[in-house]
Amino acid sequence: MFIDSHCHLFYDDFKNDLPEVISRANSSGVKYFIVPATNHETARQAIELAEQYPSIFVSVGFHPLDLSEFSTDRLALIEKMILHPKVIAIGEIGIDYFYDRSPQEYQKEIFSLQIELAIRTDLPIIVHTRDSVHDAVEIAVRYAKSYPEWRNKGKRGVFHCFTGDKAQAKTLFDSNFLISFPGPVTFKKSTMPDLIKEIGIENIMVETDSPYLTPVPFRGKRNEPSYIPLIAQKIADTLNISIEEVGRITTANAKKLFNLPI
Ligand SMILES: [Zn+2]
Ligand SMILES: [Zn+2]
Repeated sequence: MFIDSHCHLFYDDFKNDLPEVISRANSSGVKYFIVPATNHETARQAIELAEQYPSIFVSVGFHPLDLSEFSTDRLALIEKMILHPKVIAIGEIGIDYFYDRSPQEYQKEIFSLQIELAIRTDLPIIVHTRDSVHDAVEIAVRYAKSYPEWRNKGKRGVFHCFTGDKAQAKTLFDSNFLISFPGPVTFKKSTMPDLIKEIGIENIMVETDSPYLTPVPFRGKRNEPSYIPLIAQKIADTLNISIEEVGRITTANAKKLFNLPI
């Protein structure tokens, strides 16, 4: 069994065939879905899906590429949504210097503000980085150190689509954060397998980031959660363990991180 720890099933890409997408995923062993919103509107949409599908859980927050949608009033709306029983994390939050849509200092400020929300509400975080792992790790770890009660509660967050190095991964693990790997782990030139070899499987999860980052051999097409076994198989081959073992450990990690009632 697998959990897709990061898939944006609220996007229009899935508007016409979500029931089929879910049932295809179920057939390939993917039984639960963590759906991270990107702003207050997609948070509303994600919660609607979670009310329709028992297997969908939601995280709420403002994505670093969606900060034009951000306001303190809207963050207050997000904070109210946390009361919903299917909301299990704050995210996706973070920093993105690749597209650099908002000033770097502003991105760091709103990232910090949302970590403070997670600490206040005792939830884990789902972190997005692009060309920004160094700053995002620094901020998240600083908060983990300043708030030991939050940090020591269990696993406290995930850096998704992780592209940092071994030292950064180790720093995150020491502060009770996990990392997750998507489709690009299957790409020929990916450096992710080298990193996975160095860090092992204990602190990792699998994700599709659907509809983006489609794994080989479907690269270029829409991504969907039923492709999780392709990612898990690559990790299994990399570590010379069985795909069942990858499923068992990554599922346990996701259950523990998000405190899933399953
Ligand atoms: Zn992301
Ligand atoms: Zn995402």
